[in-house]
Amino acid sequence: MIILEDITMDEFKKYLKQTRTIVFPFGTVEEHGSHLPVKTDTFIIYEALKRIKKKVFLAPPVYYGVCTTTKHHPGTINITPRTLRHLSYDIVKDAYKKGLRNFLLISGHGGSMHMSALKETAEKLMEELKGIKIAAFSPYDLLWKELSDIADTENDSHAGEIETSMILYLAPELVKGRAKEEYPRIPKPFVQKDYTKFWKGGVWGNPKKASAQKGEKAIKIIVDKISDIVKEIEKKKK
Ligand SMILES: [Zn+2]
Repeated sequence: MIILEDITMDEFKKYLKQTRTIVFPFGTVEEHGSHLPVKTDTFIIYEALKRIKKKVFLAPPVYYGVCTTTKHHPGTINITPRTLRHLSYDIVKDAYKKGLRNFLLISGHGGSMHMSALKETAEKLMEELKGIKIAAFSPYDLLWKELSDIADTENDSHAGEIETSMILYLAPELVKGRAKEEYPRIPKPFVQKDYTKFWKGGVWGNPKKASAQKGEKAIKIIVDKISDIVKEIEKKKK
C-alpha cells in the first residue's frame, strides 16, 4: 500500500500515474471494555489495510465514528451521522479533484447508523461524480460467518473474543488483562437515556477465549478479502 500520510507531493504525482485507487479507513473512538483501548476499531482496520500487498493509496484513518449503545460509556467520543456523512463526502470529493477515481470506504466499526452514513455518502457521490467506482463496507458484514467460525464463543461481538484476539496479534502490549464475559440485554425497541445501565462492562462476548493465533487468522481473512476487492476495483478500466 502507498501510505498517503508518509509521502510527498512529488511521490503522490508519481504514484498517481500507477493507480487511481484510494482506500479510506474509518474507525471510532469507543470504549472496548476494561481491557482494550478506545482506538480498537480504527487500529485494527488501519493495521489490516497496511498489510495488503497492492500499490494503491491508503489514506490516514478517520478516527471518529458513530456509536450508539456505547456512546455513554467512559472513553467514547462520539460524532453524529450527519458529521460523518459530511466528512466522508468532503474527503472523497477532494481526492477526486486530485485525480483519484476508485474509492473504498472501509470501516473497522460495523454499527448500523455509522455504516448507513458511509453508504449514503457512497450513493450520493456515485450520482454526482463522473467516472468513479465506490464501495462502503465493513469487513465484519462481508465476513460474518468466516470470523464467527474462528470464535469459540457464540454471538461474539464488541470487544469480545475476536476483537481481543486481533489486538493480541497486532499489538499485545495494548491488551490490559481480560474483561469478564458479558452479554448485555438492552431493552428493545425503546431508545435509552443511558445504555451503561444495561451494559456495565462494555463487552459483548468472552475476551478470555481470545488468543493471538485466532487474531492472526482473523486478520488474514480480512486482508485476503479486501485484497480481492482492491484487485476488482483496479481491474475495470475507464
Ligand atoms: Zn470494535
